[in-house]
Formats: sequence, C-alpha cells, structure tokens
Amino acid sequence: MYKIMSVNAGSSSMKFKLYEMPEEKVLTAGICERIGHDDGIFSITDNEGKKIKKILPIKDHAVAVKLIMDALISNHIIDSLEEIKGVGHRIVQGGPYFSDSALFNKDTEQKIESLIPLAPLHNGPHLIGYRAFKKALPEVGQVAVFDTAFHQTMAPEDYLFPIAPEYYEKYKCRRYGAHGTSHKYLSEIAIKKYLKNKKDTRIITCHIGSGASLAAIKDGKVVLTSMGLTPLGGIMMGTRTGDMDPSVFNYLVSSTGKSAEEIFQEFNKQSGLLGVSQVSNDTRDIENAAHEGNKQAQLAIKMWSLKFSQFLSAYACRLGRVDLIVWSAGIGENASYYRQCVVDECSEYMGLKLDHQKNIETIRGKEGIISSKDSTIPMVVIPTDEEIMIARDTVRLLKL
Ligand code: ADP
Repeated sequence: MYKIMSVNAGSSSMKFKLYEMPEEKVLTAGICERIGHDDGIFSITDNEGKKIKKILPIKDHAVAVKLIMDALISNHIIDSLEEIKGVGHRIVQGGPYFSDSALFNKDTEQKIESLIPLAPLHNGPHLIGYRAFKKALPEVGQVAVFDTAFHQTMAPEDYLFPIAPEYYEKYKCRRYGAHGTSHKYLSEIAIKKYLKNKKDTRIITCHIGSGASLAAIKDGKVVLTSMGLTPLGGIMMGTRTGDMDPSVFNYLVSSTGKSAEEIFQEFNKQSGLLGVSQVSNDTRDIENAAHEGNKQAQLAIKMWSLKFSQFLSAYACRLGRVDLIVWSAGIGENASYYRQCVVDECSEYMGLKLDHQKNIETIRGKEGIISSKDSTIPMVVIPTDEEIMIARDTVRLLKL
C-alpha cells in the first residue's frame, strides 16, 4: 500500500486529493485558495471526513505545498511523507506532443512551457505546482496528465481548421480539445459497464460544467470533440461563447473601440449563459429567473439547448450510430431541467426521450440510466472523476 497525490494547480489555487493505491481509497482532499494573498484559504478533510479550514497568508505555491504536507502529518492522515510514492498533475495543454500521460522530466517540462501561449492561464501555474512539489518531495516521481491527450486520436480532417497549412505547421494552430481525462474516464465506464465491452462501440460523452465539451468516441477513441484550439470553442458555456462566426471578433473590435484583448476576455468571461441572461453563469440562478418570467434568462436557456442539440445531432451523424449518450460534470450530473431542454430539442428527429422520474432523481453524484425505454439512444448519467484517472496514470507511469 502506498499513497499517490493528484494535483490540480492553478494560478492562485492548488487542489489536491490523496489516494491509497492500488485500492483507490480517498484518504483526504482539499484546496489552497488565494495563493499570493495574506488571507489565503486552506482547507482539508480529516480522517473523519470533517473539513478543516484556515485563513492564513499563503505567499506562493511552495508555501501551499508545505501547508499540505504539514497538515497530512499533523492530522495523522499519513505517518511519514515517505508514504507518498507519486504525484500526478493535471496539465491543461499538451499540444501535439502528448497522446498519453508522461513522466515529468526536463523534456516534459520544456514542452509544457513551450505551450504556455496556448494555455496562458493554466500551463504556467501547472509548472509552478510541479516545481513546488519537486522541492518538497525531491525523491518522488511526478507525472503529467494532459487534458488534451485523449483527443489526440482525432484525424487531420477533424483537428485542422479550414485555414492555410502553414498556420498548423509553423504555429501548431489546430483543435486540441479539453476535458480529455474526464471523457476518457466516462468512456471507459460506459463501454465496460453499460455496453459490456461489445465490439464497435459508438458513444457521445458530454462533460457539461461551467466549461463544457462533447466528444464523439468510436471504439474508445475520440473521433471529434467540441472545444477547439482553446476551451473557448464548442457549445455555449457558463461564461464562454463557444463557436461563433469568427468575424464577430473583428467587427466588435473595429466598431466598439475596445481592444482585441478586451473583447477576447469578454468572450471568455462575460459571454455564454451569463452574457445572454445577464443574470448569472450558474444554471440554477438562470433556471429560477426563467421560471419567474425573465425573458433574457429564457432566451439564454433556449440558445444553450439549441447549440447543444446541434452538436449532439452532428456528432450522431458523424458516428453513423450512437449506442449511448453520457451526461456528466456540474450541469450534466445535476441539472435535470437542462437535460430535459436539450432532449426536447432532439426528440422529433433523433427520437431521444427521458424517463421523467429517473431524470429528476439522478442528481448529486448518482449514476444511472435516465432515458425512457423507447428512447432511440439510451442516456446515462455518470459522475466524472478526473482525480482518480490522474492517480491511476501516476501509478502506471511510475511502474509502482
Ligand atoms: P467547472 O469544473 O467547469 O468549474 P462544474 O463541473 O463544477 O464546472 O459545474 C459547475 C456548474 O454546474 C455550476 O455553475 C452550475 O451551473 C452547475 N450546477 C451544479 N449543481 C447544480 C444543480 N444542482 N442544478 C443545476 N446546475 C448545477
């Protein structure tokens, strides 16, 4: 028995989960937030599952790692740091270089660094997290688990944009997708548990949280996914536009007097459900507002459902047949109303139907079929678990 740490380091936060492997037992989980501030927040669950929370200065990521290590010992979650045999890191952008997770070494580090322009908010902080752990646990192997790796099976006709080849050749401009670790987890369960490992499986996985993406998966391999060069592409999201006519960007920059950067930030942070509804990026608030008669909230949900259904039907067409549709992440796992709205848009042509009761009941971490018996395609909710995938890959690559 040994311990593996799954880490998701952001610019001002560091989430962690400690597993006992190979049992995959969660020993603790927590987060350091507001790193770089005097009123940083550190929380961790103790052995009874009780959450301990402290407000204290967390100067940088190295301090955050030290806090985590000290708390593991002082709360008797582990007796010694030597029990930790590996650390796995979520890395948002692996570019064209990684079709699988990779051991952290100089080469991996350099490649992740070279991809910072493609994921400026993520890859830099991931490396800072890696280096902080390297300092704290110099003897422990570390593994990079890429959000893009699972999508590397896409063919050029699916990952290239309709622009001159030099933009790909010189600048690596192409579709990379995101949430790959989640799509992989969902597809593995879908194929094993719900399709009984049959031959020629064709599924669509929908990771629908604040950020959202769909993947069309044939025989366990991604054919197409909705996010593009960055997580801005694809369906409409909490605050992101998703796909739009590219000239909207140019038109708004030239006609509003705002800078390209300002408009780009708005497309990322002020658009989507929040932008249209002008209520919130949280589907619960928008649902409440819509039921109270707020027209913008109603419009936001309608636009969101239509965009989603257009991707679903296009992916079904691309796959030629669909054996299972998987719903997951914050909205996919919890928002029965939104699931119903999407399915309503896909019922006439595609013949999708929900079991009303099962749809309402399958929330808050529950797994199960939510489609009715006469739905043309079965639909299932599977709560996602990216952290366990990171822990499993860490064990696999470190050959533990
Ligand atoms: P991310 O990881 O991209 O930040 P999550 O997968 O955590 O996103 O999803 C967060 C979103 O899930 C929230 O913004 C909210 O819209 C939605 N959500 C979570 N719980 C519920 C719920 N009970 N009902 C409706 N929507 C929910």
